[in-house]
Amino acid sequence: MGGGGRVLVTGSSRGIGAAIATALARAGCRVVVHAGRDRGAAESVRDALQGDGHAVVVGDVTDPDVCAAVVAQSIAALGGLDVLVLNAGVYEAHPIDAIDYAGWRDAWRRTLDTNLVGPANLAWLLVDHLRSRPEGAGGGRVVAVGSRGAYRGEPVTAAYAASKAGLHAMTQSLALALAPHGVLAAAVAPGFVETDMARSVLEGPDGDAVRAQSPFRRVAQPHEVADVVTWLATDAPLWVSGAVLDANGASYLR
Ligand code: NAP
Repeated sequence: MGGGGRVLVTGSSRGIGAAIATALARAGCRVVVHAGRDRGAAESVRDALQGDGHAVVVGDVTDPDVCAAVVAQSIAALGGLDVLVLNAGVYEAHPIDAIDYAGWRDAWRRTLDTNLVGPANLAWLLVDHLRSRPEGAGGGRVVAVGSRGAYRGEPVTAAYAASKAGLHAMTQSLALALAPHGVLAAAVAPGFVETDMARSVLEGPDGDAVRAQSPFRRVAQPHEVADVVTWLATDAPLWVSGAVLDANGASYLR
């Protein structure tokens, strides 16, 4: 598809999502910068993007009605959507041997709703839009930001690992279902990235051990994941559909 695409990037008010929005705009796309709550942060990201015609949309992806509003507002703002980048996510500690039952259940519910069910609803809404537009669905793309944790395991964030394994499996299933429509679906599985989400781990007692997991002896910067996502969302050949691409600095080989 190349530049010129209209892209909704969920959770692009900071971190990896903001880097994705920046890279997509540089590639010539028009971007909806989306935040869960922080409109001001999303507006700052949008204002710094290269090119014109970008927009801001705010809404909690755990609410199915809000998902519908987020997609509708994105379509209205850009005059249609071609690409959905499923990036918004949460990562919260819920160690099974140190949390009560109510806390455990809350963490699972919140994590699955944000990282898996919300993305599933957004994907349905994008596909519904693609199928109903006059030019047809061809050229549409769905790119999910998964995680190395799906393969490696997450001892204190089991729901996170499960949600990302589910997100990978959903994306691969969409690749099968959407190929006849000319739509690509693929995912990226990053290892640790220097963002707010990873800060407490990277600045805590395990920080050095985490950095040592990679032979580069560091974690990723957001743009190192964003550039992979941007390739999948724009120039990657259709034949990469169904892939889950590792972007983990060789910290975990499978
Ligand atoms: P981050 O800095 O914590 O940013 C999270 C983004 O998601 C924010 O824009 C936030 O918006 C949005 N968000 C959170 N909950 C939401 C909700 N319920 N509804 C709508 N938006 C919501 O995260 P990040 O590190 O950039 O991570 C981005 C993605 O990469 C996530 O899917 C994460 O799992 C994945 N990942 C991260 C790492 C890492 O080490 N950082 C590693 C592997 C994979 P508000 O601030 O407005 O709520």
